[in-house]
Amino acid sequence: MYAAKSLGKNCVHIFDRGVLEKTARELQMETDLRRSVEESLITVSYQPVYSVATGMMEGLEALARWTHPVHGEISADEFIPLAEDAGLIVELGQQVLGKACCQVAAWNRQFHCRLTVSVNISGRQLSDRDFLRGVSDALLGSQLEPSLLKFEITESVLLNDHQLAVEALDRARALGIEVYLDDFGKGFSALNYLVEFPFDTIKIDKSFIRDVERDHRRATVMATIVQLAKSLDKKVVAEGVETLAQLKFITAIHCDYAQGFLLSKTLLPTEMTAVLTSNANGEECLCPSLLELVANLPGKWTQTVN
Ligand code: C2E
Ligand code: CA
Ligand code: CA
Repeated sequence: MYAAKSLGKNCVHIFDRGVLEKTARELQMETDLRRSVEESLITVSYQPVYSVATGMMEGLEALARWTHPVHGEISADEFIPLAEDAGLIVELGQQVLGKACCQVAAWNRQFHCRLTVSVNISGRQLSDRDFLRGVSDALLGSQLEPSLLKFEITESVLLNDHQLAVEALDRARALGIEVYLDDFGKGFSALNYLVEFPFDTIKIDKSFIRDVERDHRRATVMATIVQLAKSLDKKVVAEGVETLAQLKFITAIHCDYAQGFLLSKTLLPTEMTAVLTSNANGEECLCPSLLELVANLPGKWTQTVN
């Protein structure tokens, strides 16, 4: 029944052994995920976000990681939807928020910097009555300045019953937390969202960035979105930057921030500490691939980080 429902309305899915095996695996994974969340075993890795104007590392996106006891690392695209379906996302999200705030506040103290941290927040968290208390706990527990915390939400949060979500976002903004609209360009991406909802920054989806190289019409649309966002006083992050051509393009259209494998992969906390340590020692502070790029981007990108 669920397989048929996932195909849309009025569909039929014939039961076979494959369905049974898939369901059994999903059930087992759900049980295992529940245990990992209960034992607080979800970890957080960090992907740097760079200022396009200066080339300096401005902040980090916190990304949840789950290592399954038997199957090893499971992709977030697999276990996050599982956590949503199993009713675990509120607890999992709170753990990620708490860990990310503590870790980034500790790095800022240790390395005398002011890195921001973006945390992905699911719609279910926003409609949870205890969400804001959890946010306050994370800020108080870590002593992270609220202005260094960002929430990333996707437009799906706003599609249905968005009243609670908007209220929660308004209250978070009143605390000084900025709100990012994630994955812009992936779904319907109604321009209305940019006006109607309280976003400070939009993140253009990686599928959009990938296509700009092949399709000049996409490039035109993207340049126009950036202009529109700027005229509404919003910042723009380009994510999924994988090639030098893409970096040059987003530089040309004046995106504010860039994130992607070209600049840095997602790093374990230990790897991130090593990067920050080499910065503090006055060695190259940008990730190695970035140093090659700097040579190719006249004047724009510097080799220092604050
Ligand atoms: P997202 O929020 O769009 O996060 C960016 C994803 O793109 C990350 O995948 C990151 O590793 C990947 N990425 C970064 N640079 C590049 C690039 O240059 N090319 C490509 N192809 N990919 C790149 P990840 O970590 O597997 O996360 C997948 C999704 O899972 C996230 O997409 C987000 O929607 C969700 N997610 C991850 N952590 C959390 C969390 O703590 N809470 C919630 N609610 N969702 C999370
Ligand atoms: Ca995100
Ligand atoms: Ca995204």
